[in-house]
Amino acid sequence: MPFEYAPALESRAIVDIKPSYGLFVDGQFVEGHGTPFKTISPATEEVLAEVAEADEADIDAAVKVARRAYDRVWSRMPGRERAKYLYRIARIIQERSRELAVLESLDNGKPIKESRDVDVPTVAAHFFYYAGWADKLEYAGRGDDPQPLGVAAQVIPWNFPLLMLAWKVAPALACGNTVVLKPAETTPLTALLFAEICQQADLPPGVVNIVTGAGATGQALVGHPGVDKVAFTGSTEVGKAIARSVAGTHKRVTLELGGKAANIVFDDAPIDQAVEGIVDGIFFNQGHVCCAGSRLLVQESIVDDLLERLKSRMSTLRMGDPLDKNTDIGAINSGEQLKRIRELSEVGDAEGAERWEVACDLPTKGFWFPPTLFTGVSQAHRIAREEIFGPVLSVLTFRTPAEALEKANNTPYGLSAGVWTDKGSLILKMASSLRAGVVWANTFNKFDPTSPFGGYKESGYGREGGRHGLEAYLK
Ligand code: NAP
Ligand code: MG
Repeated sequence: MPFEYAPALESRAIVDIKPSYGLFVDGQFVEGHGTPFKTISPATEEVLAEVAEADEADIDAAVKVARRAYDRVWSRMPGRERAKYLYRIARIIQERSRELAVLESLDNGKPIKESRDVDVPTVAAHFFYYAGWADKLEYAGRGDDPQPLGVAAQVIPWNFPLLMLAWKVAPALACGNTVVLKPAETTPLTALLFAEICQQADLPPGVVNIVTGAGATGQALVGHPGVDKVAFTGSTEVGKAIARSVAGTHKRVTLELGGKAANIVFDDAPIDQAVEGIVDGIFFNQGHVCCAGSRLLVQESIVDDLLERLKSRMSTLRMGDPLDKNTDIGAINSGEQLKRIRELSEVGDAEGAERWEVACDLPTKGFWFPPTLFTGVSQAHRIAREEIFGPVLSVLTFRTPAEALEKANNTPYGLSAGVWTDKGSLILKMASSLRAGVVWANTFNKFDPTSPFGGYKESGYGREGGRHGLEAYLK
């Protein structure tokens, strides 16, 4: 007799969401001159707040403010002084971690378990880590006296709103750059709370500026002639457009784009551990993860056993209210993303793959998609080639390590991969032959600020995290 969990709701009383938000420029909230937009909770479609849209004039003002702060204050400040601000920000993030986690889950739809235990602690860790670098940049491998680039234009997606902000802002500031950052249209609230944290930390005005809006605002920001560096995380399509728009300018660029990672399970793998890793690889954050293990490659001899255990484990995943501490799977971030997931899954059906999904009642309000897997997938199927960016796993099989490698590398992407086997030699062989920026062995989705992250091929260029992450922000 399976037991039921009683609801364990995290209180939202800790967050004080204002009815409307302005842009954060020069250390203050100011009005935007575009058309304000609403941000909603994707779990309930409740409107959370109205947010200002930055138009071209607002972007111009923010970039000028960032330039002034760069010239007069931040680039001249000794690294050990910049470090103090970064440490202070890290400490405030820890102090306000519950508030940040609740707000992130409300605005994004991700389970509180994840925002509380993964996103926010990793955000603080990034600020601590790069605070440590600020006075040691001569050891970064960029010469004796490495210099910052200037004003960084940073554009981030909605899947890890605050974590992507941290990946971008912490190294930029540690190296002496100032920033203008645009969060995604559907998830601006934690970036705006971060703006308040900058005020609380007495960060000099203009060092961090947050401009909200949608694609047009991002385009105006990266296209502004006054920025020296563009850092973008998002889709490969927009990444390509950005690369074209900055070609021939003085701007330096890093791009973190999409992925279609192979998660490869050999017949000698610890199978229950592998099942946990497969579940984490594709269902963590509703599969809205650029490095998600969305292509499962299983050695043919164990596929039946593995799929049986995987389905049984998937059936125990709890889907529902993101603020419930028992929830494993939250809401899809937007109606638009849900439509895309549905469409690609229907293409999977039409192309002859076999769909299996967890039987569960979906809430009537909000955007939901059950954990799903497709078997009978061939390499030619679109669900094996294109990024679905949702809780959908495509299962393929292989017989030999060579075939696994061939299939794993048969993708335009190259962000991450996973290998499950008992043999160390096989791990090393696979890791060195997989064309992927990160290869996890007998684990998946492990992130640490000391470890560089980034892609090959159409997954982008440049690295974030670790000492490598400093290169993106130093001459
Ligand atoms: P997206 O459409 O490319 O959006 C990313 C950001 O760029 C958003 O802030 C977006 O604004 C903005 N933007 C849209 N058009 C733009 C333009 N022409 N110029 C400048 N900025 C523009 O990506 P998404 O679909 O929202 O996010 C999911 C994608 O991000 C997936 O493909 C995923 O793989 C990728 N991703 C990669 C990583 C990584 O580290 N490699 C991490 C997370 C996500 P609005 O969305 O507000 O309109
Ligand atoms: Mg988008």
